[in-house]
Amino acid sequence: MTKFKLEYIWLDGYTPVPNLRGKTQIKEFENFPQLEELPLWGFDGSSTKQADGSSSDCVLKPIRVFPDSQRANGVLVLCEVMMPDGVTPHPSNKRATILDDDSAWFGFEQEYFFYQNGRPLGFPDSGYPEPQGKYYTGVGYGAVGDIARQMVEEHLDACLESGINHEGINAEVAKGQWEFQIFGKGSKRAADEMWMARYLLQRLAEKYGVDIEYHCKPLGETDWNGSGMHANFSTAYMRDVGGKEYFEQLMSAFEANTEDHITVYGPDNHMRLTGLHETQSIDKFSYGIADRGASVRVPHSFVNNGYKGYLEDRRPNSQGDPYQIASQILKTIATVPLKKAAVA
Ligand code: ADP
Ligand code: MN
Ligand code: MN
Ligand code: MN
Repeated sequence: MTKFKLEYIWLDGYTPVPNLRGKTQIKEFENFPQLEELPLWGFDGSSTKQADGSSSDCVLKPIRVFPDSQRANGVLVLCEVMMPDGVTPHPSNKRATILDDDSAWFGFEQEYFFYQNGRPLGFPDSGYPEPQGKYYTGVGYGAVGDIARQMVEEHLDACLESGINHEGINAEVAKGQWEFQIFGKGSKRAADEMWMARYLLQRLAEKYGVDIEYHCKPLGETDWNGSGMHANFSTAYMRDVGGKEYFEQLMSAFEANTEDHITVYGPDNHMRLTGLHETQSIDKFSYGIADRGASVRVPHSFVNNGYKGYLEDRRPNSQGDPYQIASQILKTIATVPLKKAAVA
């Protein structure tokens, strides 16, 4: 038997954006534990805005297991929060009620800032570094500083070793700002892996004295870049059947549901979706081929393949909850009728 360190991880009840929480228990298993072998566990919901002091127990229900390469015999146990009965989802548990479809694929591009002492990593103590320009995909100390790349590389390895489908990295437009991409089949899988990737990033940055700032416009009304979480998506129908007519119907449905999308696309998004800096205004909906100033960017490949493939919704922001973002995209897609013969 081996003693495994089980890190139970969940989302708390803070609004508008939940925080990641985690605590460890040690248990013995013959081999690396399977999901079915992991027991329910509890925590004090009164400390996480998930219960009152009078009846504060909430239940952690394991839903996905990953090896934790950063810890000897470590296991990352992603959980849903349940009511004390263990079967009713807690109101803060969005994952329990979202739409899912294994044939819907999602690629999230998570942008974020490294922060130290309340400023982006690499910013001087007061004032600003050289203006934006050479930071995006930059190389060299002047562009990225000394520890950012180390953290980003460590994060990449940690994700890959955990089986998280990390797909790439780039330094972003502002100094101290980076991006990574996570791709998954099914809204739950993709979003689970995004939350785990966020967890790993936050945890490994601790030892560098660095925080992860996910706010979509941490430097306020300046020219400094905001952070998004572009959601690339495709359903089986979009990939296999598609067509211009269906695409146009889909975009009409997106336009009709603009408000519902914006509601779950992350807080303070009006600060970022201004119509400037490769964004569309928050109250407008537009799409365009290779257009980074549109709400939805249509890749060249999509048009070249006869309006088949994936689309990029550029509106979700870096603080958005990938569960709710993916679910809203699926909800809107579900309002558009499919040609029956083609589906069969
Ligand atoms: P850009 O920065 O040019 O917008 P990225 O390479 O950062 O592009 O992100 C593109 C994302 O699109 C990746 O996360 C990738 O996984 C995702 N993607 C690629 N093909 C598909 C597809 N068929 N369905 C859904 N997402 C996809
Ligand atoms: Mn990108
Ligand atoms: Mn980007
Ligand atoms: Mn993008």
